[in-house]
Amino acid sequence: MKQTGINSGQFLVLVVDDLPSNLQILRGILEPTGYELTFACGGEQALDRVKIARPDLIVLDLMMPDVDGFTVCKTLQDDPEFANIPIVFLTASHEEANIERAFACGAVDYVTKPFRRSELLARIRTHLLLKYTIDELRKTKLELLSALRKTEQLARVDPLTGALNRRSWNGRARKIWQRARQGGLPFAVLMLDCDRFKRINDNYGHDAGDRLLCAVVQTIEDGLRPGDALGRYGGEEFVILLPELTALEAKPVAERLREQIAALTLNSPRGTMRATVSIGIADYQDEDPDLDALLNRADNAMYRAKHAGRNCVRLAAQAEL
Ligand SMILES: [Mg+2]
Repeated sequence: MKQTGINSGQFLVLVVDDLPSNLQILRGILEPTGYELTFACGGEQALDRVKIARPDLIVLDLMMPDVDGFTVCKTLQDDPEFANIPIVFLTASHEEANIERAFACGAVDYVTKPFRRSELLARIRTHLLLKYTIDELRKTKLELLSALRKTEQLARVDPLTGALNRRSWNGRARKIWQRARQGGLPFAVLMLDCDRFKRINDNYGHDAGDRLLCAVVQTIEDGLRPGDALGRYGGEEFVILLPELTALEAKPVAERLREQIAALTLNSPRGTMRATVSIGIADYQDEDPDLDALLNRADNAMYRAKHAGRNCVRLAAQAEL
């Protein structure tokens, strides 16, 4: 196709007519255009050909003894798989009722015999280009949607560990906090920090340290319920949102995570790595002015766990409420 950069040979046109002599005439007209051609001698054969060949456009006769053009057109239009194939009627019938019915069946064009060769070719070309453009737009739309989903995902998660990033976790936690504030259910937050992680990075290298961090995250994720949320808060500091649990109810969860992480071993070129974590727990209190107050208590509890010798769990003290 001139001026479009599109190759005519990429289009397959199905020509349907019950008279073989008509098919021959149309072959003679269409062949020089470079379109791929396929033929059907009757309505039934046309429906079969469409399924096998999946043409880009159909030139369709109206009057055919077995299955007429209307039926072929309607059948294809009703099938989502084939509904987007443009159908150009080519017929001797000039009756207005037939023209109306053809368009009502979903045809894109109606050419009457005797026809002008150049006009038929121009119409076919236009409808092929239109279909090509629509197909490309559809493809582009799907690609854009997929890219958008990836971007949204990237904006939500920490690229190293796949845990939620701080902003995204805060958003989730704020919603739960609002709900609790409006008289909803309790919730707890675990503040979890990997112990002496600088030493791990120094001893085993940063790549190995990163792998250990990912393994810790995986261990945590495996131990959480579907509605819980894990966020990376800092370098090796994580927060875990546990909806519907009080701090006391969250303690066994924290202890189990701590044990599972302590049991973790990971090989590196410089030896076997292990990690331990210190965990602070706080839960929602009506007196808290905001979510930060709760996070501060969890953070303080976590530091008490550090001072108590690490690899342990501490609850936010009543004095901190
Ligand atoms: Mg006919």
